Amino acid sequence: MSKRDYYEVLGVPRSATQTEIKKAFRGVARELHPDVNGHDPEAEDKFKEVAEAYEVLSDEDKRQTYDSYGHDGLRSGGFSSQAQGFGSIDDLFSAFFGGGQGFGRRGPAPGADVGTSVEIGLEDVLEGVSREVEFDVVGTCEHCRGNGAEPGTPIRTCERCDGTGELRTVANTAFGQMVRATPCDTCHGDGRVAETPCGECSGLGRRHTSRTFKVDIPAGIETGQRMRISGAGHAGEPGAPSGDLYVEVTVAEKEGMIRDGQDLITVVPLDATKAMLGDRIEVETIDGPEEIEIEPGTQPGAEKVVKGKGLPRVGGSRRRGVHRFVFNVVVPVNLSDEQLKLAGELDETVGEANRQQEESGLFSRMRRAWS
Ligand SMILES: [Zn+2]
Ligand SMILES: [Zn+2]
Repeated sequence: MSKRDYYEVLGVPRSATQTEIKKAFRGVARELHPDVNGHDPEAEDKFKEVAEAYEVLSDEDKRQTYDSYGHDGLRSGGFSSQAQGFGSIDDLFSAFFGGGQGFGRRGPAPGADVGTSVEIGLEDVLEGVSREVEFDVVGTCEHCRGNGAEPGTPIRTCERCDGTGELRTVANTAFGQMVRATPCDTCHGDGRVAETPCGECSGLGRRHTSRTFKVDIPAGIETGQRMRISGAGHAGEPGAPSGDLYVEVTVAEKEGMIRDGQDLITVVPLDATKAMLGDRIEVETIDGPEEIEIEPGTQPGAEKVVKGKGLPRVGGSRRRGVHRFVFNVVVPVNLSDEQLKLAGELDETVGEANRQQEESGLFSRMRRAWS
């Protein structure tokens, strides 16, 4: 086979500059690349021809020899094209353009994350708790162990993608032709297909399953906080990691207790007479009943703080917050005639006591302080 003219091969005039030669080579080479043409022997030969032409014309010495003596001049000068010596077309392409074979090849995709939720009691926040959570996930098919074939049946190389797992398409862009690789739609990127697809997963190797997972919920957790369990999410494509599982925790509300971070608050209704006289009453803490002392003369909104009966903090020490009992003084209504009479007598006495306090200058001192 007689050799074609190098300038003709690259499609440039004999007066072309190095920049023009380089640009022409890149353009022609991309069109001939095996990523575009598959392993078409004709394209491969053409590519070698283009590479050889570029090798000569991009070197001023060789170009001059070629210009004066043609192909024969190069042969007698001991030139053997580097392009003919490469093992594969991919090696050759890499040598000229750098990088590995192909454009935009990506690995198998990792699995997606999955979310679920769990509700625990307020008491569970004290020590933390283990809970089984149930969630739906795309997992490896247990019947075929993920290879997609009915057990005992053969798996062959995918014909559509020639076992590479991807399909290549050429797109015209502003920068010239670009090759895009997408996962093969026949083997789903696996490169192999089952002759008899698995009956359980239709050959996908993955399937929806309901899964349970034991989650250790830490002490001190609050509603809305999420826990991440690495690798418990959806299965990835073969060879890629699974996604993560996110468990969102809701702490159930407990009758009569309001949570304020590490503290608990309870509003305690208190008869006006008990507020005046003082008392000992039983209240409910998260650890059980507890007796608290009410001072004589307790005012509405006053509170009694019980230390160590609140909640711990996530990741912190086991030191607990407080439980605050806030008194709501309740004024009695619908009093009997006798009760009203007693209250009237009390009122006169209290009125007298208040006047005495006024005289002692307490109120005037306070007024001065506030004015
Ligand atoms: Zn299966
Ligand atoms: Zn395929």
